[in-house]
Amino acid sequence: MFESSLKQLGDALRANKISSVELTQSYLDRITRHNPALNAFITLNPEMSLAQARAADARIAAGKADALTGIPIAQKDIFCAKGWLTTCGSKMLHNFVSPYDAHVISQFNNAGAINLGKTNMDEFAMGSSNETSHYGAVKNPWDTTRVPGGSSGGTAAAVAARLCAAATGTDTGGSIRQPAALCGISGLKPTYGVCSRYGMIAFASSLDQAGPMGRSAEDLALMLNVMAGFDERDSTSLQRDKEDYARDLNKPLTGLRIGLPKEFFAEGMGSDVAKAVEAAIAEYKKLGATIVDISLPNSKLSVPVYYVLAPAEASSNLSRFDGVRYGYRAPEYSDLADMYEKSRAQGFGAEVKRRIMIGTYVLSHGYYDAYYLQAQKIRRLIAQDFTEAYKQCDVIMGPTSPSTAFKLGEKGDDPVQMYLSDIYTIAVNLAGLPGMSIPCGFGANDMPVGLQIIGNYFDEARMLNVAHQFQQATDWHSRAPKL
Ligand code: GLN
Repeated sequence: MFESSLKQLGDALRANKISSVELTQSYLDRITRHNPALNAFITLNPEMSLAQARAADARIAAGKADALTGIPIAQKDIFCAKGWLTTCGSKMLHNFVSPYDAHVISQFNNAGAINLGKTNMDEFAMGSSNETSHYGAVKNPWDTTRVPGGSSGGTAAAVAARLCAAATGTDTGGSIRQPAALCGISGLKPTYGVCSRYGMIAFASSLDQAGPMGRSAEDLALMLNVMAGFDERDSTSLQRDKEDYARDLNKPLTGLRIGLPKEFFAEGMGSDVAKAVEAAIAEYKKLGATIVDISLPNSKLSVPVYYVLAPAEASSNLSRFDGVRYGYRAPEYSDLADMYEKSRAQGFGAEVKRRIMIGTYVLSHGYYDAYYLQAQKIRRLIAQDFTEAYKQCDVIMGPTSPSTAFKLGEKGDDPVQMYLSDIYTIAVNLAGLPGMSIPCGFGANDMPVGLQIIGNYFDEARMLNVAHQFQQATDWHSRAPKL
């Protein structure tokens, strides 16, 4: 049952082979057994999960079930969910029980899915290893001395360890794809604007995007069908017709043109990662694809550009955490200014403070033109590279992460080394394009390797087709860690 796909679970529920209450309880039991070693969840609320499961069973009995009705889905703790503690991995929100649902959460509720719990994450989604969480590091289920990646590390570990059927993540610079790669699961960051950001705690608003994480491309398609859609409460939500993201899963790949950017296959990528990615490309050739050499000349600037723009937006977004409106307030202070200062000094962790300082610096008078404005211009050039590339190819492929999962603590003292974990993923966010990662083998220390698939705007259905066909021909995605 823990290996069943979302489709199989949905079929079993609708055929009354299992009830949602039974299914939810089995997952909760499995979490009780294995989560202490992984720390993948910040909050569990069995009472609320089981109440949803009872409602789902009634809906199924009434013949009104949708694809995900009754299926337990875990939610990254960045999504506000009514009645649930919603911390965003921060002490700042240690006591924040959300009075409302994020759009993505209400879409799952409308679909009758079960909220199984809130997953651990880097504080305010800033990090690549899940070590910045106020609630402690998440462990990689393939080797608990290693990181799961971040910032959606709790989600990635939970899916890999089969502690939920599927889960949500968010991706500002790689936070869905990189942890998916490091934990050997599939994850998709949609085109910017496809999933509403309403109720998703903001990090860098022009880059943040929600997306599904799961065991297979087919599961991601069913998840995205629920998550995507216009929402007037997010001014960047796109008004487009509803799509069935599973519609093209079974199309053959004959004639597919895969672009390989020379910049992604240069120095920097581990030889173990290169070997697995090259084997995957060879598999695609067998499936009928042709290879096109392309260049993304400005992509090398994506890490410095991102680390100007993302902190700039974060410094503005995080100004709302002032100890007054919600969240943490310092117990002792002399006056209002002192209360702000102490609440923020005590409520935020080191990485968040570093970003706020960089952000206020690059936005300040005198440095704005030199840093922020320049970065915006290069952002445009990075996006134009992709537009040029898609004249020659249908999808772009490469590694998701330069290395497999590193040791806990290994990069803790060196923020720049940590920032380089996202060297292949960040350009995609700067351009607003959809990107995904699927497992494609194992590298050093038998840790999973991810293949990144980057699509053109709104090409999610094709990317899922490309991933699904690979998963029909290989079994990397069905490998699971021994717990
Ligand atoms: N690791 C990157 C960062 O620390 C990306 C995080 C994300 O995508 N949320 O900012």
